[in-house]
Amino acid sequence: MTKFRTKLIIALITLIIFVLVGIGLLLGQLFKSYFLESLNDHLKIVILWSTSIGLGIVLIIIILLGLRITSRYTKPIVEATNVAIELTKGNYRARTKVDKLDETGMLGSAINRLAQNLQELVKTQEMQQDRLKVLIENMGAGLVFIDSRGYISLINKGFIDIFQVSPTDYLYKLYYEVIEQPEISDLIAEVFRTEKKVNKQILIPLFIERKYFVVYGVPIIGTNNVWKGVLLVFHDITELKKLEQVRKDFVANVSHELKTPVTSIKGFSETLLDGAMHNKETLEAFLSIILKESDRLQTLIQDLLDLSKMEQQGFQLAIQELNLHTLLEEVITLLNGKAQAKNIRLELYSKQQHVLVKGDVDRLKQVFINLIANAITYTPPEGEVKVVLLDHGKNVRVHVKDSGVGIKKEEIPRIFERFYRVDRARSRNSGGTGLGLAIVKHLIEAHHGQISVRSELGEGSEFIIELKK
Ligand code: ADP
Repeated sequence: MTKFRTKLIIALITLIIFVLVGIGLLLGQLFKSYFLESLNDHLKIVILWSTSIGLGIVLIIIILLGLRITSRYTKPIVEATNVAIELTKGNYRARTKVDKLDETGMLGSAINRLAQNLQELVKTQEMQQDRLKVLIENMGAGLVFIDSRGYISLINKGFIDIFQVSPTDYLYKLYYEVIEQPEISDLIAEVFRTEKKVNKQILIPLFIERKYFVVYGVPIIGTNNVWKGVLLVFHDITELKKLEQVRKDFVANVSHELKTPVTSIKGFSETLLDGAMHNKETLEAFLSIILKESDRLQTLIQDLLDLSKMEQQGFQLAIQELNLHTLLEEVITLLNGKAQAKNIRLELYSKQQHVLVKGDVDRLKQVFINLIANAITYTPPEGEVKVVLLDHGKNVRVHVKDSGVGIKKEEIPRIFERFYRVDRARSRNSGGTGLGLAIVKHLIEAHHGQISVRSELGEGSEFIIELKK
């Protein structure tokens, strides 16, 4: 544009010079014919010079005026053109200066409006793209898009995390060349073949685990029935499957636990009815077995009811201020007989008589009865069970320490599972249900407390309960 401006100026100056020279020549001729003939030489020179200087001044004034006019009209056009060039380069922030309301001003403001509209359009588009990207990346499921020729054109973070792959190994590659799991490739092929949605549960071995996925395969068909490709969405349902397995195991365990005493009660009653009841000693022995088995059944049903109550939503504790020292003393009094029967020394150690905490008296009693009864059960005769109450200011700790059989390190995380027993026979003989520690853990968590275990096989175990004051 500057070239155009220079040319315009040159043309204008040339035109002015021609006009002025023409006027000069014309005036000169007139001057000469009317006046110069009669004047002397000196006067002629003076007149000639003053005319030339006058003409020069007029020329300069006209040039300056020309420059002003051209700059007034060409400058805004040049600026508007520059903004248009910037817009084509993608710089939508470029604006031109508009300070007049004439045609050039209108051109400038139109260019500015165009730039602003473009800027807003691009901003909206960027925002939508960002939103879509965030959504795809964080949708909590794996996503793959395969184009109509079978090339993978998109994988999201979920997919990368599930399969631990690098995008460069997958993107723009043929799906059947990079996807290692035949179940997935088959599913994609099925969508391509049938052009219908496919929804399948797939078990995929991944590293050291086996994971369950629900995979949705959707054909993407654009306008005019044009094939765009296949979209695959992977939902990890391993946790749900595990829960389902836990539920199945639980039902199997409960049935088994119930079946044993019932079979025993039925067997002994039948034997008695078949004639054994006429022998007084047998009758007494069998009836006491039946009573023991009925007790076991009752405890088991009670524990199951307790557990299910605790797992209900809205399970609430009757929280009140209580003296933990008194509560432990009561539990120990209750279990003294059981300890004495095995000649086990059961003692409470505490520096303070008043250790106040907020909790549910009955539920906390249940916790410590379970822990102390276990300590007595899994400690051989002549052993020792210590209950230590320590006040740590913000929280309180109760240590239930025994000199019993101990637990192997690898078994420790499992003892809180329902029905898990290290020694099935020993637990059963002592009337255990295998649910005690599961209940303890639930109750402590409901109190926002913590439970931990230290144990050494053959040396003894220590269960530590931490409660907030
Ligand atoms: P149980 O009714 O069988 O005692 P629990 O849930 O109370 O069920 O305990 C689970 C298992 O943890 C027990 O079967 C036992 O093997 C182990 N256990 C619990 N407390 C102790 C302890 N103080 N010493 C050794 N083993 C224990």
